[in-house]
Amino acid sequence: MEIKYFEFAKYLIRFNRQVYLDHNATTPISDHVRNKMNQALKYHYGNPSSFYGMGRKSAGLIEEARQNVANAIHADPYEVIFTACATESNNAALKSVAAHFYPQKKKIISTPIEHPSVMNTLAYLETQGVVVEFCPVDDKGRVQLAELEKMVDEDTFLVCCILANNETGVIQDIKAVTKIARARGALVLTDCVQALGKIPIDVHDWDVDYASFSAHKLYGPKGAGALFVKQGSPFTPFLHGGHQESGLRAGTESIHNIVGFGAACQEVDKLLKHAGRIQSLKRRLIQRLKEIKPDCVINSPEADSECLPNTLSITFPGVENSGLMGMLDYRGIAVSAGSACSTGEDTPSHVLKAIGLSDQAARETIRISLGHDTSARDIQYMTQVVEDYLAGRISFVNMLAPAQLNETILFNKDMFILDVRPPDDRKRFKGLPNAHEVNPLHVEQYLKQLPHDKQILVYCPGGGLSVMISYYLKAKGFKRITNLRGGLDAWRKRRSDLYEKYAGQNVTVLDPDL
Ligand code: PLP
Repeated sequence: MEIKYFEFAKYLIRFNRQVYLDHNATTPISDHVRNKMNQALKYHYGNPSSFYGMGRKSAGLIEEARQNVANAIHADPYEVIFTACATESNNAALKSVAAHFYPQKKKIISTPIEHPSVMNTLAYLETQGVVVEFCPVDDKGRVQLAELEKMVDEDTFLVCCILANNETGVIQDIKAVTKIARARGALVLTDCVQALGKIPIDVHDWDVDYASFSAHKLYGPKGAGALFVKQGSPFTPFLHGGHQESGLRAGTESIHNIVGFGAACQEVDKLLKHAGRIQSLKRRLIQRLKEIKPDCVINSPEADSECLPNTLSITFPGVENSGLMGMLDYRGIAVSAGSACSTGEDTPSHVLKAIGLSDQAARETIRISLGHDTSARDIQYMTQVVEDYLAGRISFVNMLAPAQLNETILFNKDMFILDVRPPDDRKRFKGLPNAHEVNPLHVEQYLKQLPHDKQILVYCPGGGLSVMISYYLKAKGFKRITNLRGGLDAWRKRRSDLYEKYAGQNVTVLDPDL
């Protein structure tokens, strides 16, 4: 009897345990931030632009938050503009600087490992005539300063260099970058989103012109960002309208989010003190993973000074990241992959490719990012699950290569094709023939309609979401589950002949209420 209880408890622990190891994607809100935000939401709803007392109170809270952000990054408060997110900060800075200098000067030099909010804005600016060049990085993602020196010329108006990369954690020598830019009269934008709260930030000491930040990466709320604009550096508003943010960013301020951002910044010193503990947990993690899979490759720089203390990018040769992540999710562990499968494309990460990984290696890479709530037990649990998986002690979801998905499988009566694509992808692309469409956010509502006596082939746009759902279905007792590797995107590319001939035929939309 006792053993039964023990087994049951083990079952509960295993399936209820949540280990969040994706702090570079976002962080939980700290208690201090939550309390401050709740106060703001409850009492301080006055419009900060209103002159009466309630408005003045709200305006005061925003100024307090601005001071807190300025303290955390070593800026003056009037150099901090609140935005809705760092994506907006990066857009605003890049577009404003380009509008200021182009066409008198034409060139921006950046790095190939920027966040998409920079990469895609640069791609847009290229369509407007701006010349964008990327300074090479080495196999750890370090910007080649000698190359940068050769590339920055009199026609360069901006050097845009991410301080710490979100995928590998590599930290750049931003002071050296600024020195090179300054020597040719170019301005500097640095994306500090991942760095704040993990390493010290001093925008004045570095002498940068622009720096972007986001509250949700440091235990603050989503929906609050900031742009540092050095006094005297050119800036024209991205959003036009009211006179908020000294006329530099129109729109009624999101008081509670801004208050939350300020509160998160009050905790930056505390977070920096935790960095050593997180760093040693990461070392332990690396050591265990190397024991488990000796041929694993660490893509993050191993020197502490060159890498964020919490970030590890690791490649497990021969182990597809989508399957590994799906299985980890099944055991309550959240990590992320170095491929942009969430965008619906089976495209390996541009960052991993820039540091020299092959497409295959990028698809065998995961990112583990620890937080101040991560414990040694979390690391032990995570590594144990990885070990069990690699030793074949956890039952796998079958993976079907896109090239193998042929007419025999598509029209096999024993095959139930489950389409878990989001609605926008269904609008863009026709799906597999004979598919059954469900709402991917509420798969639990369709369980009764899924067959236990057939093979279920699950597919999504890029192969990432479907593998998570595949493991979920396995946990719900469906034994014969196959996941389409690389998703519809990969199949469309590999079997365009079949896509042309059959896509969209005989699709059934399942009703969640049945
Ligand atoms: N820059 C980096 C390096 C990031 O990691 C992120 C978020 O992942 C962003 C910019 C965008 O931040 P936000 O989510 O606030 O738009």
